[in-house]
Amino acid sequence: MSRKLLILSLTTALSGGLASAEVPQVAVDIAPVHSLVTRVMDGVGAPNLVIQVGASPHEYNLRPSEAQALQDANLVFWIGSDLTPWLADAIQTLAPNASTTALLESEGTIELEFRESALFEAHAHDDHDEDKHADHDDNDDHDEDKHADHDDHDDHDEDKHADHDDHDDHDEDKHADHDDHDDHDKDKHADHDDHDDHDEDKHADHDDHDDHGAHDPHAWLSPQNAKTWLNVIASKLSAADPKNAGIYFSNAAAGQTEIDALIAEVNVTLEPVRGMNFIVFHDAYQYFENDFDFPASGAISIADASDPSPARIQEIQGRISNEGIDCVLAEPQFNPGLVATVMDGSEAKTGILDPLGAGLQPGAKLYPELIRNLSKALTNCL
Ligand SMILES: [Zn+2]
Repeated sequence: MSRKLLILSLTTALSGGLASAEVPQVAVDIAPVHSLVTRVMDGVGAPNLVIQVGASPHEYNLRPSEAQALQDANLVFWIGSDLTPWLADAIQTLAPNASTTALLESEGTIELEFRESALFEAHAHDDHDEDKHADHDDNDDHDEDKHADHDDHDDHDEDKHADHDDHDDHDEDKHADHDDHDDHDKDKHADHDDHDDHDEDKHADHDDHDDHGAHDPHAWLSPQNAKTWLNVIASKLSAADPKNAGIYFSNAAAGQTEIDALIAEVNVTLEPVRGMNFIVFHDAYQYFENDFDFPASGAISIADASDPSPARIQEIQGRISNEGIDCVLAEPQFNPGLVATVMDGSEAKTGILDPLGAGLQPGAKLYPELIRNLSKALTNCL
């Protein structure tokens, strides 16, 4: 120990206890969430990242050091089982007494339905989208209901459907899809015990997407959600560590101001390429599309990143050749061969979108850099 450190620790010990000894041990699932928690803990401590940067959370095996991070944790922040169903068991086993927060389920979070289709009907629905945004801001009761009663999705969706009766076919389609989806989920639960080789089935037959949740889990790609979560994180940390509550909340407020600046910057970056058509690798960007009103035309894979069926690839190829797709975006985590396959013979450009910050240094700056990079990658490709 250097003299300086020794003096520092003696001083702190004498001045009534080490602040650091009381700082909660925090484990976090993915790098973007780790970034937000790092921002809130700035000047107090630092969280531990469980799923390493560059790895896909959709399929992952915990290493011993990562299991240890969970075991040591007083607090766990994670997106939730919709993103990493496998992590739910690990948290339960390794961190049974930790205060655990699934951010996707936290109050005020924008949650979007899981999209099953390869092609998105984005361009005919501008009015609808604007109404949706307005509705979302005005209708607090609606959101509270949603959060108060998570199991009651059907009522919720009927309300939503009723709110939008005058809009278009889109809502009816969505509603119909949703009903199918519910039936599907019931089947899933009924059949669950019979399917021990379920995971193998999934890879063999990709039309049978059983094991994703009802919501698209990539909610961190909404900077609006990131702003909400900064406060959620500050609240949970403050409950565990009231002494530093002032720091946590002021860091969260500063982080929210930074994200507001980021949102303004991204809107400027995207402005020249609005209205252009792009296909993404896996359906991870719905929250970004929604926040910035910047819709994708389709996704090669659904949001759980399972390999697409040949029929789905054909649908995407059809859209690329028939509808003037300007860009197809790959991802650092996944097989580039698939992009080459769907691109076959097309003159669309290619780029790379990184939804997790794979090439970035973990830390407070990762989150804004990740969102900024998405907007730059889209602008460069379109
Ligand atoms: Zn994903």
